[in-house]
Amino acid sequence: MQLVILGAPGAGKGTFSQSIKKYKQFTHIATGDIFRKHIKDQTDLGKVASTYIEKGKLVPNDLTDDLIFSELNLVKKDFILDGYPRNLDQAKKLDEMLRELKIPLTACVSLSIEQEVIVDRLRSRVVCSNCAYSYNLKTAPTKTKGICDNCGGKLVHRKDDSPEIVTHRIQIYERETEPVINYYEEQGKLLEIDCGEIDFVTQIDEIWSLLLEREVKV
Ligand SMILES: [Zn+2]
Repeated sequence: MQLVILGAPGAGKGTFSQSIKKYKQFTHIATGDIFRKHIKDQTDLGKVASTYIEKGKLVPNDLTDDLIFSELNLVKKDFILDGYPRNLDQAKKLDEMLRELKIPLTACVSLSIEQEVIVDRLRSRVVCSNCAYSYNLKTAPTKTKGICDNCGGKLVHRKDDSPEIVTHRIQIYERETEPVINYYEEQGKLLEIDCGEIDFVTQIDEIWSLLLEREVKV
């Protein structure tokens, strides 16, 4: 089963990928991890990529495509592709690559969530300023208010979690990925999961059977 996963920051892509692994061993293909791996192993692709990253520049699309291609060629099946495609060009490119490698894509899983829900969720997240352990004020509060259970450090909100920054990141995400979501919908490959009201971990059995049905159709 081959999946693409889409979701705004805070929508729970990591949690989803973890939960789905109880049914099947998936290889998690995350673009950031692939870059790091190639740079660490000093592969040809990694050497070129690091020249951009060292200068603080964005890695060109072609190079990202090449990295994804080499990884898909290596893994071949049972993967969750995370962080790619980010835009319509990449989605089309991915189709080309999968066709060339004769890998069928089972579905694009899109975790949809209201902006307010994410902002609210991140607002209740605090981290220890000393040991970086994170807590949720609503669902997993500390024994003493404002103090880390682990080390007694002071709890703070992360700058990245501020409503302004979170809202901005979500808007960028939506602008870029909306065409990608439409693209997969037109192909009948989209599986949209509402992560707002109900925690999707409780829907995971249902989601899994939907994915199995699609796998048979291929
Ligand atoms: Zn601490």
